[in-house]
Amino acid sequence: MKAKYNPQEIEKKWQQKWAEDKLYEVGEDNTKPKWYALTMFPYTSGDLHIGHWYAMAPSDVHARFKRMQGYNVLHPMGFDAFGLPAENAAIKQGIHPFTWTMQNIDNMRRQLKSIGAIYDWSREVITCLPDYYKWTQWFFLKLYEAGLAYRDKAPVNWCPGCQTVLANEQVIDGFCERCGAAVTRRDLKQWFFRITKYADELMQHDGIDWPERIKLMQRNWVGKSEGTEISFALDHTGAEEREIRVFTTRPDTTFGVTFMVLAPEHPLVAKLTSPEKKAEVEAYIMRSRQQTEIERLSTEREKDGVFIGAYVANRLNNKSVPIWIADYVLMSYGTGAVMAVPAHDTRDFAFAKKYNLPIRVVIAPPGWQGEELEEAYTEPGVMANSGQFNGLPSQEGIEAVSDFLEEKGWGKRTTTYRLRDWLISRQRYWGAPIPMIYCDKCGIVPVPEADLPVLLPEDAEFRPTGESPLKYHEGFVNAPCPRCSAPAKRETDTMDTFMCSSWYFLRYASPHYDTAPFDADRVKYWFPVDLYTGGAEHAVMHLLYARFFIKAARDMGLVDFDEPFIRLFNQGIIIAEQQKMSKSRGNVITPDIYVSELGADAVRAYLMFIAPWERGGDWNDSGISGISRWLNRVWNLVPGKYRYNEETSPAVRQKAEQDLSRLAHQTIKKVTDDLERIRFNIMIATLMEFTNYLSEVKEKGTAAPPVWKESIDTLMLLLAPTAPHLAEELWTQTGHNYSIHNQNWPQWDEKLAKDEEITLVVQVNGKLRDRLTAPVSITESEAKQLVLERQRVKAHIEGKEIINVIYVPGRLINLVVR
Ligand SMILES: [Zn+2]
Ligand SMILES: [Zn+2]
Repeated sequence: MKAKYNPQEIEKKWQQKWAEDKLYEVGEDNTKPKWYALTMFPYTSGDLHIGHWYAMAPSDVHARFKRMQGYNVLHPMGFDAFGLPAENAAIKQGIHPFTWTMQNIDNMRRQLKSIGAIYDWSREVITCLPDYYKWTQWFFLKLYEAGLAYRDKAPVNWCPGCQTVLANEQVIDGFCERCGAAVTRRDLKQWFFRITKYADELMQHDGIDWPERIKLMQRNWVGKSEGTEISFALDHTGAEEREIRVFTTRPDTTFGVTFMVLAPEHPLVAKLTSPEKKAEVEAYIMRSRQQTEIERLSTEREKDGVFIGAYVANRLNNKSVPIWIADYVLMSYGTGAVMAVPAHDTRDFAFAKKYNLPIRVVIAPPGWQGEELEEAYTEPGVMANSGQFNGLPSQEGIEAVSDFLEEKGWGKRTTTYRLRDWLISRQRYWGAPIPMIYCDKCGIVPVPEADLPVLLPEDAEFRPTGESPLKYHEGFVNAPCPRCSAPAKRETDTMDTFMCSSWYFLRYASPHYDTAPFDADRVKYWFPVDLYTGGAEHAVMHLLYARFFIKAARDMGLVDFDEPFIRLFNQGIIIAEQQKMSKSRGNVITPDIYVSELGADAVRAYLMFIAPWERGGDWNDSGISGISRWLNRVWNLVPGKYRYNEETSPAVRQKAEQDLSRLAHQTIKKVTDDLERIRFNIMIATLMEFTNYLSEVKEKGTAAPPVWKESIDTLMLLLAPTAPHLAEELWTQTGHNYSIHNQNWPQWDEKLAKDEEITLVVQVNGKLRDRLTAPVSITESEAKQLVLERQRVKAHIEGKEIINVIYVPGRLINLVVR
């Protein structure tokens, strides 16, 4: 009696053996085409949950498939280990972030190993270790040298909950992405990366195969907008500045400007405010500082503002325009100033009504007779009250007014972007220190490359205070100036963890290289990444930052390609009981339990079967039981003795063998195609059908043993990427040489895979009208559809009603019409 399928035993056994033999360790090999299969590395949050498995198991299946196809496959794994969540969790539990993180990594590595993936662990990358972050700091220095890193005082997003500055991307509708607290504004000296320099290039996705929606999200995030920058004159005010600049996409409405609104943070506010308005204006600024961005931009809230007692001149009509401040205008967008055209902008209209400001119609609505507007008219129309432009359609006016402004030197056509420079300073402990020193004499001095890494001191107080905890670490802060050796101070902020993940994929190429972040030759060999898989939530942060890094690295001559990831694929989300998994709902699926009960192979196969990978699906225990039963069937089917039925007639045998071989070749073709196209669920269904068919053949015993043997070999090979342990066990049990994972992917023969064909006789009302060839497997409804498209048949049924269809499978179809 054959042993029962025992995944716990065989999975452990093979994982150990593969590791001992270094089966999946990979080097550069110029005799093979390379394939770099990258999965987004996990954040070291503690436990590997089923979402991680959903990201990692199917991508491993694909990488294994490529490996069997003859590619030299790099499929590495590592840990994104710096950052706020780790620090916050460590503080909560009263342990050091380093200890907490490394414990998590040990646990996650053990769990990752249970997946049975082809990760080359000798290439593991951990971003919080000095031999990694040394190079993160090195990249900072390079960006600084290239003029792509700069320090500036700027109003920043401040999260009172996390006590830190957040990047724009981390503020969701005015709230902190991590803790949900309302975000306020503050001024701080910060380090920025000039990602905006690459705005145009980041909007292009030429030559890369990415999902449309991700490309669209990136384009919207960069937010290119073409319009005209117009300057309004301050000549008369006595201020040093001569003008206020505004950006508009509607220069055709410039004659209708009746007031100007500045952001409360606008640097001109203090200079222009009249003495009698000072107190009121300052009070308003104080109040707006306490507002969150969401409150400021909320469409629900009535807009309010304050007149600052100063005027600016509209050069087009020499009209004097009062200057207001209002907190719905943000300094971080455009120029921080807007020209208000209440007649043709809804928000301006409401503001003008509230404060009794004039409303001047300059784009006439159809049939307008000069009456007052009930609401803003925002559609195109004919220009009015606009001097020499009167009568011009507003669409043409956009160009005409822009031309005129440019001629006069009062404005210029320009392009603005929604994208801001990337703020990378964090006033937190758990990150890579920014390698900069401030000297009273020399100013900002970069830490020399030879002095890297600037180590993060383990004995620093790491609780958040709102300032960097490193500020209070004497040993860290005080350092001699690298230029003049005078006592100087280190930068105490650490870097945004998105900086660590912007280049980790380069490190995998040569993870132990210690004279540069990567060995250029190896990067040349492996790059770009052929397939990058991960969650769609990274569309505008990680994926945009990584592209920026590569473009900057290219311009510095560090790499010779433009895009890091050729193909991007986003998997969906696994839910449970129709709901998102969460601890509070108590519906979290823990993969470890299923691995120990049913085996990693069953979990892998089930995750692929559950739904199209990009869609995600609902975890269901009976679903995985079904998969487990299938793997058990394979276990019983393959190595068991095959009994050939000696009484089979030659004709029956020939037919059985033909049918079996046809299905085997069709299965190879389908499975290969589904893997290439990442249609894993269909692939599993195909393998199940093949298994069922093989079971029937085995029962009947009508095919000769060599044909049988070839077919089950095919099954094992096709199954190897999905269920690597089971396939390896069966492969060696059936007398093959270890390892199945070094075998070539099976090839199909187009001739053998071709469906057997039949000739179908087509009748209309019992009379022969046509003949057609069709696959033997054609169903009645397929046959009917095919027949109705035939010209010869159409002629006989036109204008008639089909009242019956008689179908004799494989032979005849008769349409009864009247
Ligand atoms: Zn927060
Ligand atoms: Zn100095």
